[in-house]
Amino acid sequence: MPGKPASPQQQLSTLPLEALKGVGPGLKQRLAILHLHSVQDLLFHLPLRYQDRTRLAPIGRVLLGQDVMLEGDVVHCDIEFGRRRSLVCRIKDGTGLLSLRFFHFSAAQKNMLSPGTRVRCFGEIRPGKTGFEIYHPEYQVIKPGETPALSDSLTPIYPATEGLQQTRLRNLIDQALALITPESLREWIPQAVLAQVIRQTRWPSLSQALAYLHHPPVDAPVQQLFDGAHPAQQRLAFEELLSHRLCLRRLRKQSAVQQGPEMRAQHRYRTQFLHQLPFKLTGAQQKVSAEISADLQQPRPMLRLLQGDVGSGKTVVAALAALQAVDNEFQAAIMAPTELLAEQHYFNFCQWLEPLGLKIGWLSGKVKGKQRRETLADIADGSAQLVVGTHALFQDEVVFQRLGLVIIDEQHRFGVHQRLALREKGLNKQTQPHQLVMTATPIPRTLAMSAYADLDVSIINELPPGRTPVNTLIIANTRRPEVIARIHAACQSGSQAYWVCTLIEESEALECQAAEVTWQALQAQLPDLNIGLIHGRLKPVEKASVMTAFKKGELHLLVATTVIEVGVDVPNASLMIIENPERLGLAQLHQLRGRVGRGAKASHCLLLYQTPLSQAGKLRLGIMRDSNDGFYIAEQDLALRGPGQVLGTQQTGLMSFRIADLVRDADLLDPVKSAADYIEHSYPSHVDPLVDRWLGDRELYGNV
Ligand code: ADP
Ligand code: MG
Repeated sequence: MPGKPASPQQQLSTLPLEALKGVGPGLKQRLAILHLHSVQDLLFHLPLRYQDRTRLAPIGRVLLGQDVMLEGDVVHCDIEFGRRRSLVCRIKDGTGLLSLRFFHFSAAQKNMLSPGTRVRCFGEIRPGKTGFEIYHPEYQVIKPGETPALSDSLTPIYPATEGLQQTRLRNLIDQALALITPESLREWIPQAVLAQVIRQTRWPSLSQALAYLHHPPVDAPVQQLFDGAHPAQQRLAFEELLSHRLCLRRLRKQSAVQQGPEMRAQHRYRTQFLHQLPFKLTGAQQKVSAEISADLQQPRPMLRLLQGDVGSGKTVVAALAALQAVDNEFQAAIMAPTELLAEQHYFNFCQWLEPLGLKIGWLSGKVKGKQRRETLADIADGSAQLVVGTHALFQDEVVFQRLGLVIIDEQHRFGVHQRLALREKGLNKQTQPHQLVMTATPIPRTLAMSAYADLDVSIINELPPGRTPVNTLIIANTRRPEVIARIHAACQSGSQAYWVCTLIEESEALECQAAEVTWQALQAQLPDLNIGLIHGRLKPVEKASVMTAFKKGELHLLVATTVIEVGVDVPNASLMIIENPERLGLAQLHQLRGRVGRGAKASHCLLLYQTPLSQAGKLRLGIMRDSNDGFYIAEQDLALRGPGQVLGTQQTGLMSFRIADLVRDADLLDPVKSAADYIEHSYPSHVDPLVDRWLGDRELYGNV
């Protein structure tokens, strides 16, 4: 029987929606679409924005784009015939005139709005033929002598769905608010956390915050609410971020009960390897290597993200990790997202490790026939101690003898599922290989903390010595001839250069074609230079021979598509031209630019943009010109484009918060982390209800 809860102690989290007046099966279904299943869920269904219906705006003072409530007398009301027939009703108050425009209207409506009638209306101010207009306002006719009351709080606008009106949602939420008691809606964040961990005394209690946000008073600071900076919003954003973090930590704990292969820190191969390296490890490389080595010695599977800017030397760190596996008679797999990058790794590992007597397998989709069978056999009987490849390594036919470590380069290119698939290739169901995920696209700290909270993070925050920062210039493509002259001069004086053609309309075929056209044009314009071409459609042997020629210095200029984005390492190349850089994300541009500036020579990167360049485009390229710091660039990119774009569409869903905003609320993340630790440790029973409150049945991240 629908009605009141059994008692004021009844938890709203378990109180079904039917307890509210007016909820039947049809409404319940529509509420379920919004993930609303309990009375508590309604309370945490927070407004997207607010409308101010608490006062009347003077017509003379309204602004474009504003939602306003106003009142005036009809001056005239006529049908306008034009491209589209409309009813235009002009109204005035003491301060100005404004038109209400209706594209759908009835004769009765026209008659009702006759001159002299007083109307109150609400809508958005937009520019129209007669000046400021409101299209299809909500309106009511006011009878002489009447003054209908104005709303006494801001009107919340909720996320809604078809067949579910705002007024209905408001009514249900109001009923839910009335059921709040200290027992029915528990504060799961202990007072000690609020007081000590975030030293926050200004924040309202949970129930105060909810009541305020569902019904902000007339004098509420509208701008602060709009900015999400109100203490009530911050209080809830904090709790939401905390719940997300606790949820990821819970997932992580579940995977930590799994066994991992223990790898003692033996130094047989490691010492030999370091001895023959032509350089010393940087302090940062040593530090992260030690972190990884300590993880590998644990009987739990490692889950570690290794971040380091382009050129910071992650490959050596990966090799050291792989050697610890090999020293303990385990196999290690190294996987990269593109053929070219995987080949580069294969080449590096062969060069470094074959002299130590190790056997390295190579597997990509293009390895076929006898060669493939042999490689698969080497992997299966353990004679290949290391295996390098592309996602071909995920396939079912690949069976390892004793896989102990999986290294994945450029994590953000792989889906989480792929990452898991390789984990499954471990020794048996109970034992999972260790996992090291490397990324050169620095994931902004804010995202790393939330999206990758199931991973430990090591950061290489230092470049090898002797690098000179790349000098970046922004040039309009109308100055192409100057750029070509500059390449000529640079190559004449012994440098090498890249010319990068960027993606056209997401089509690899077109991109390759564009590169070919550019290659031909440049050959005609620079006849005394040796110019190579590389793109994704060349056969592996062709790619390899072009790259080798460029490495050896036989080619002056390499025309390339974005396939060179990652992995390519030619220290003598000190000039890069990127055509249409406005098409790429900042992180990707930074990756590309990282191909130069690897030697001692001063390097330059010319961003040759297509005119005209949008304001946003200027801003973005300006960031590239002004900074060489991948982390800074990634943060800026995040602020400009939002997390969905930065992480890629695949993972967009993962960033949906109800009230928190990773960029805006970045300063809450550290306190959230401490609070999560505190609660896990001292109040473990609060974890589940918090997670349930904010995440409920919503699909959480793929990181399970
Ligand atoms: P990334 O982190 O972008 O993958 P790489 O591992 O490709 O960087 O390293 C970039 C270049 O720096 C390579 O030529 C590598 O041999 C070199 N390198 C790596 N570590 C050092 C170091 N400690 N000192 C000097 N050069 C190094
Ligand atoms: Mg690399």
